[in-house]
Amino acid sequence: MNLDWQTCSRARLSRDPRFDGKFFIGVKGSGVYCRSICPAPTAKEKNVRYFASAAAAAEAGFRPCLRCRPECSPGTPAWMGTSNTVSRALRLIGETGMENGGVELLAERLGVGSRHLRRLFIKHLGATPTAVAHTRRLHFAKKLIDETTLPMTQIALASGFGCVRRFNAGIRNVYHRTPTQIRRLARKKEPQQENQYLFRLRFRPPYDWNGMLTFLAARAIPGVEVVEGGSYRRSIVIDGKQGYFEISLDKDNLALAARVEFGDPRSLFFITERIRAMFDLNADWAGIASSLRTDRILAARIQANPGLRVPGCWNGFELGVRAILGQQVSVKGASTLAGRLARAFGRPFSAPGSITHIFPSEHALAEANLASIGLPKARAETIRAFSRAVRDGKISFESVVDSEVFLTKLCEIPGIGSWTAQYIAMRALGEPDAFPSSDLGLLRAMDLTNARELEKHAEAWRPWRAYAAIHLWNMPHENKRPDTQTGLTPQIRDRAILAAS
Ligand SMILES: [Zn+2]
Repeated sequence: MNLDWQTCSRARLSRDPRFDGKFFIGVKGSGVYCRSICPAPTAKEKNVRYFASAAAAAEAGFRPCLRCRPECSPGTPAWMGTSNTVSRALRLIGETGMENGGVELLAERLGVGSRHLRRLFIKHLGATPTAVAHTRRLHFAKKLIDETTLPMTQIALASGFGCVRRFNAGIRNVYHRTPTQIRRLARKKEPQQENQYLFRLRFRPPYDWNGMLTFLAARAIPGVEVVEGGSYRRSIVIDGKQGYFEISLDKDNLALAARVEFGDPRSLFFITERIRAMFDLNADWAGIASSLRTDRILAARIQANPGLRVPGCWNGFELGVRAILGQQVSVKGASTLAGRLARAFGRPFSAPGSITHIFPSEHALAEANLASIGLPKARAETIRAFSRAVRDGKISFESVVDSEVFLTKLCEIPGIGSWTAQYIAMRALGEPDAFPSSDLGLLRAMDLTNARELEKHAEAWRPWRAYAAIHLWNMPHENKRPDTQTGLTPQIRDRAILAAS
């Protein structure tokens, strides 16, 4: 366990939301386990046990509390800093729910033995990978029972139980109630239209929602994504099925409100996990900030923008194309090109606001005549080559375990440099230590002249260099220079540095 009992005890007694999901509290006697913020009367210290994960509390025989609803906590921090393998395994479990293949396949993908993986899980989370995956499934089922009006048969499938009998048994076993009884207990729901869902996705405060929106707004693809009225909306496609979602801040609940419209409930686990990753909700910001604060320059920026997260993406392929489109044009110019690309090669789709298209797939772009939207020849060829690599499975954004191997393959595509690769690692793979060290904006912010100096300085920021980069890009608004964060594109930065060195 990464926390000592004194820290846990203090957090529990003060119901500190910054620790929500970093540990769970088992209460002897009542037999339930709680979040650090549970509103129930506080138990005596001698009557509680602390667990590193919900799964560990469940393994020890505790049931999830029906008041603080552990399934709603922000969950285990995405990155524990101490074990890459466990963090990566958690990411893979989030992507697939570990439905197929179980722990053996998981271990194989991670390139470790399954016994070793089990040992690592027990050490860091207090529970086996199987128990962690099972608890996640159960928690997701509970969320669907409470927060949607989906029939139980659909929930059984959407949460990976396979059949209603197993689902009923699983829920009864843990909650000592039937799914229907649990639904009756849930707070009154807003009326929901068919295929529409509203989820509250919790974070550990602080969360700089404006910082996140500003970053996404500058890079939004017209017709596919829109930032307006304090929310972010976009079209999505999964296995050929289309839909959209809209994200806004729910300040009172320390959550993002995710309104999802999608026809197949079996994709809801994937969609909500992806949104959590995109908005970096699993980050343990307090821990990251306390580590980066030791740097004088960063300390000032962290103080100015508490809760800044690393913006991820909905789809790695789309992010890659968007990054290539940005080569040698301004961010605004790149957005215009991206909008043209979406209109010319994407599928029409209608959603509220100005959403008109689904972003084109790798199949649509692999052989597309991209010159027709005014793209220079070399840029067009890079996008085609990238699309073919994704289409042919040479590059896959799913289940990436070794980001070094992934980045090497990415850089083999003519026209993709190390800046772009690191940028993609940061936003599409959620690598907290990815760092585009040749970035002119970063160099200026640090008052340095070359990437090597910056890399040397940034050694002290590991394993959080991506967060350091976001803080450095996010200049205080009054002295934001147009050519640092928003004006220069990745490739111009690459080129500027190459030219300078
Ligand atoms: Zn509780």
